[in-house]
Amino acid sequence: MKRIAVLLASVLLLGLLTACGSAEQTAAQPEEETGPTQAGIWVEKVENLPENFLLGADVSTLLAQEASGVRYYDFDGQEQDLMKILADSGVNCVRVRLWVDPYDSQGRGYGGGNCDLDTVIELGRRAQENDMGLLVDFHYSDFWADPGKQMAPKAWKGLSPEEKAEQIYAYTTESLQKMKDAGVTPRMVQIGNEINNGLSGEKSTLNVNNLLASASRAVRDFDPGILIAVHYTNPESANYSNIAYKLATSGVDYDVFATSYYPFWHGTLENLREQLSTVAEKYGKRVMVAETSWPYTAEDSDGSGNSIGEGGVYAKPYPFTVQGQARELADVARTVAAVGEAGLGVFYWEPAWIAVPGDSWEERSAKWEQFGSGWASSFAGEYDPDDAGRYYGGSSWDNQALFDPQGRPLESLLTFRYLRTGAETELKVDSIEPVFLTAKRNQPFTLPETIPAVMNDGSETQVEVNWDASVDPDELASRAVGKYELSGEAGGQTVRCTVDVVEENLLSDFSFEEQNTQVWTITELSAGPQTDFQVKAMDAFSGETSLHFWHANAVEFTVEQTVTGLAPGKYRASLQAQGGDVGEDAVLYLYVISDGERYEQSFQLTGWVNWANPVIEGIPCQNGEITVGAYIKTAGGGWGTLDDFLLNPAD
Ligand code: CA
Repeated sequence: MKRIAVLLASVLLLGLLTACGSAEQTAAQPEEETGPTQAGIWVEKVENLPENFLLGADVSTLLAQEASGVRYYDFDGQEQDLMKILADSGVNCVRVRLWVDPYDSQGRGYGGGNCDLDTVIELGRRAQENDMGLLVDFHYSDFWADPGKQMAPKAWKGLSPEEKAEQIYAYTTESLQKMKDAGVTPRMVQIGNEINNGLSGEKSTLNVNNLLASASRAVRDFDPGILIAVHYTNPESANYSNIAYKLATSGVDYDVFATSYYPFWHGTLENLREQLSTVAEKYGKRVMVAETSWPYTAEDSDGSGNSIGEGGVYAKPYPFTVQGQARELADVARTVAAVGEAGLGVFYWEPAWIAVPGDSWEERSAKWEQFGSGWASSFAGEYDPDDAGRYYGGSSWDNQALFDPQGRPLESLLTFRYLRTGAETELKVDSIEPVFLTAKRNQPFTLPETIPAVMNDGSETQVEVNWDASVDPDELASRAVGKYELSGEAGGQTVRCTVDVVEENLLSDFSFEEQNTQVWTITELSAGPQTDFQVKAMDAFSGETSLHFWHANAVEFTVEQTVTGLAPGKYRASLQAQGGDVGEDAVLYLYVISDGERYEQSFQLTGWVNWANPVIEGIPCQNGEITVGAYIKTAGGGWGTLDDFLLNPAD
């Protein structure tokens, strides 16, 4: 009986797992005393993480999201208060931004959650109900404050720096008092947001630090138990030690030096750790990451463009996967913890800012406008005409949420818990980056048998790939010049591949990468050596090597290659060349000899990497042999490089 029962249970469990989607499979297993949690993702345990390490989430848009009809679900598929879902997932502190007056002259919200004081109080109350702390992020602006803008609130326009400092003291005190009256006590207050380039309309370090000192005094005078944080960004380029030095000499009293850290923009973890460690050691401050995040997909889900997507110019140290998010968050927490006792915590930015419901962009846009659930409404144009006024819309961060577009949690949300225990799962391929190949037209072409894959534990390995069998590589290489897409399968994932069919080049070593003196004949016609194969990518048109020339007295040489066995027909030849100081009497031309006829195309050299591209078209050839070359004659001091000779059939 017992045995049957076990078997039955196994069958039921199997059926359940098979029938359920990924969200159900990601349900957390109970934490074990020893060893990592068995889970659906891989998380390396963060060793020696203090019990009170802050694992935070910025959910400033939550009320606007809820008003727009967004619903959130727990790992059992039940609709649930987001705050409870976060708390159950290991989040112990909630960050909320505070704008002074995010409304236009008719009382319409600017968006981005319309984060006024009432919003902060309501979110703070709900965080506290779920035993989470509150970090209030004072922007001291009516809308977004970041390195690109630090606008003063409307009501503070025209105030002198001294008056503004008084105003900041009064406003901070009043805000904290209203929170207290509503039963909300922040654990931490952030005085300004990403203030590298200013604060509240002030730009000079003197004025900014005076405002900070005033804000800090207000918090200290109100409640010395509240931690005070300053917040900067761009750890990859800013000098945090220098910033902390100026804060110290300005007499700004604070406890926590906080930074944003988005790996796609902000450099390496090693640099982050160094920046934070230096401030912690030299100035005795706590340090933390106040904002971080990572995409689980490149796809947009609300019709409003995302900050990070496919094809942007940014670093990509993790795949855009749920597993990638988990690795990123755990790595950032590990980095802050590695600073030592000063490492205070890490906050994930807007994990719940997903698409609002709607069947069309128009329906969603109406909600962004009405409830402020987009990054900006059109009404913000009155305050911020150049940015919000032009580009207002929905969520730019939905692909970096820790919830799917329907509000179901991604297992990456459990990273907050898993990083204390570690989590393990079956080792498998997590991501395969798109493959880019080049095929020389009409030349034999093969597809690679293996390609690199990122595994879910972060390791990299080569995996076998099964390419679409209907594609014949040689047929592909016979097509017209251009890019072609094909797909394959590897490690259970679809592989996307782009093959760039480039012009057939009948010349050998056409880019000089092989430095092949068997095929290239170089004849120096004036005294002294004047040419060499130069390995220097900056001076090469492609690859690293080019044919370089220079001589103090004079330059005169030819370089040529003869190709035999050509089919009768018409051909095209060309060359890339750059250089300068060739003198007024310089003679520079590409030449072709075919069927005893000589063809020439002259060109000019006008400066470094101003590539000249002489072309000779429609060269008839019956006897199967063509010589392609260049004649270069310059004054003394003439210099340059020749690269990428081309001979191919003229279609
Ligand atoms: Ca979006």
